Amino acid sequence: MFDCIIVGSGLAAISAALTLKANAKSFLMIGEKNLSDKISKAEEIHNYPAFLGVSGTAFAELLKTQLENEEIVVTQGRVNGVYAMKEKFAVTTQDGGMYESKTVILACGVESGKRIKGEQEFLGRGVSYCATCDGALYKNKKIAVVCLAKKFEHEAKYLSEIAEKTYLFPLYKGLDLSGEKIEKIIKMPSEIVGEKRVKGVLYEEKGEAKHLNVDGVFILKEGLPPDSIAFGVETDGVSVKTDRRMQTNLKGCFACGDITGRPYQYAKAVGEGNVAAHSVVEYLNEK
Ligand SMILES: Cc1cc2nc3c(=O)[nH]c(=O)nc-3n(C[C@H](O)[C@H](O)[C@H](O)COP(=O)(O)OP(=O)(O)OC[C@H]3O[C@@H](n4cnc5c(N)ncnc54)[C@H](O)[C@@H]3O)c2cc1C
Repeated sequence: MFDCIIVGSGLAAISAALTLKANAKSFLMIGEKNLSDKISKAEEIHNYPAFLGVSGTAFAELLKTQLENEEIVVTQGRVNGVYAMKEKFAVTTQDGGMYESKTVILACGVESGKRIKGEQEFLGRGVSYCATCDGALYKNKKIAVVCLAKKFEHEAKYLSEIAEKTYLFPLYKGLDLSGEKIEKIIKMPSEIVGEKRVKGVLYEEKGEAKHLNVDGVFILKEGLPPDSIAFGVETDGVSVKTDRRMQTNLKGCFACGDITGRPYQYAKAVGEGNVAAHSVVEYLNEK
């Protein structure tokens, strides 16, 4: 069992990992080998101490070298469940991984995109964030797939191969996916509707409300609502609530960076990641 599992691989996660490493704690960092788009895509950074206009790509390269030097490895994966158990946490990933730890640090960034009306209400009742977890449930059914970034196109493709019909809402430029069973709709869905389960999705076209009958809606996006990853974690509706030690309402579960709210900035992510890791060390030592 790990002392800690860090969910994410952005600056908050990296800062936490460096501090855990310095304190000789065992940990697993689950995220992206490429760290975070929010690092590599920054044009020039001027508001971070000693950075006189460093580019995002240069910043990302420095971080990768630092992780390598410290022998910190990012385990590629997307966490889809953090379960607080009596004295430990179970953490699951979309590709079927299952890990255990004494503590958890949530550092997976802020939820991307505006929530669609009905998204929260029908989560688990037809709304899913995970193609590989829930795709098979929609074999030969009609689905809507709201895809927020090109990097999720392969998941949309996978879903379209399973479903009888896929209404694809790509919310980015440069879509490279088509097929007989796919109908593209270049709009933002306005509402997910249903009764016990999802029955349809609404969108507007030329001022006219359109309704599509679907059995499920997949929303493929980078940042997910925190309470859809860590069950039972308290939020203010968007961000995870923490105290000054970055402790959440779940004992042993800490959060840092954009996931805890504004300002969305590197300096805050680094500071909070550091505090969260120190709190993990204190928590483990107290035990
Ligand atoms: C284009 C751009 C430019 C910016 N420029 C600046 C700037 O100049 N100065 C500044 O201060 N701030 C800037 N920001 C804001 C800054 O990037 C963020 O505040 C900061 O990166 C937040 O770090 P974080 O670690 O909390 O989250 P993120 O960097 O968002 O990292 C979250 C990580 O978690 C991973 N993740 C998400 N969900 C899961 C999951 N379920 N399982 C596992 N991993 C997951 C993601 O892949 C990512 O690696 C910029 C943002 C953007 C988008």
